Amino acid sequence: METKNTLLSVENLKKYFYTGKGVLHAVDDVSFDINKGETLGLVGESGCGKSTVGRALIRLHEPTSGNVTLEGQNILDYKTKTDMRKMRQEMQIVFQDPYSSLNSRMNTFDLIADPLVVNKLAKTNKEKEEKVYRMMETVGLESRLAGSFPHELDGGRRQRIGIARALILEPKFIVMDEPVSALDVSIQAQILNLMDDLQKEFSLTYLFISHDLSVVRHISDRIAVMYLGKIVEIADYIDIFEKPKHPYTKALLSAIPIPKYGLERKRIFLEGDVPSPIDPKPGCRFAGRCSECMDICKTETPELKDEGKGHQVACHLYK
Ligand code: SF4
Repeated sequence: METKNTLLSVENLKKYFYTGKGVLHAVDDVSFDINKGETLGLVGESGCGKSTVGRALIRLHEPTSGNVTLEGQNILDYKTKTDMRKMRQEMQIVFQDPYSSLNSRMNTFDLIADPLVVNKLAKTNKEKEEKVYRMMETVGLESRLAGSFPHELDGGRRQRIGIARALILEPKFIVMDEPVSALDVSIQAQILNLMDDLQKEFSLTYLFISHDLSVVRHISDRIAVMYLGKIVEIADYIDIFEKPKHPYTKALLSAIPIPKYGLERKRIFLEGDVPSPIDPKPGCRFAGRCSECMDICKTETPELKDEGKGHQVACHLYK
């Protein structure tokens, strides 16, 4: 529910891809809000549509329908180059694989300066230099690395460049698309801590996308769980971990230890095949794998409903 604290509001977002075999419902009627300064974690298995949500929000994939409102402005109404440039400054993305997302022919300085140049945000070379070196310091990149190329740097430093490129435009909102999954575990913690520090320093709002619930737990205030193009549960991160409601969330969680006590949960092994996201049939998309499936689940698609204190779940077990 949108409040005066809401920064980003997503309503009935759909992204369909038209293939030779039918219509792929990658994102199918997804709605959520993110408050100012909040991190919403978005989790789900590979191919569930979570990265497509992130890209559709900032119009790297043009949504099929829906509304995406940033501080009251529906960014899907933006048509002109000036509007789109304004949107790109306010909403940024950090990609999973910094190596493939960085131009290998540009050095660190030019990679970080590039968004300033494209958006004409530095009037002089001196101003550009000052901004780039200040940003390098902010993200923990030594100034001696200004002339280094991506292939000369480790994964952590390359991801720091990715973060610096996003931050240098002073955005309000950043999509973090699996930002640590390509990194070694020791470096993952450093980058997560950096993102946390930057969020506090610059009052940033994040959508943090990951397939890994234990990574999401470290950074998120609330967590949304996605399954085959739909959000099936959203709640405070403590509620997701301690009082999950949706059978799919319970199965995901059963694979990781209970955070508070470091205990193992009873593992739930999902059986059945993941249905095709092409021209999906009505009913719950999890029905074929759910041990609690009822007749209604096969014909009626469950709506995401608030079960109290903002804990939303889409499942016929809850009425
Ligand atoms: Fe299982 Fe039915 Fe709930 Fe879907 S709606 S998760 S099939 S109980």
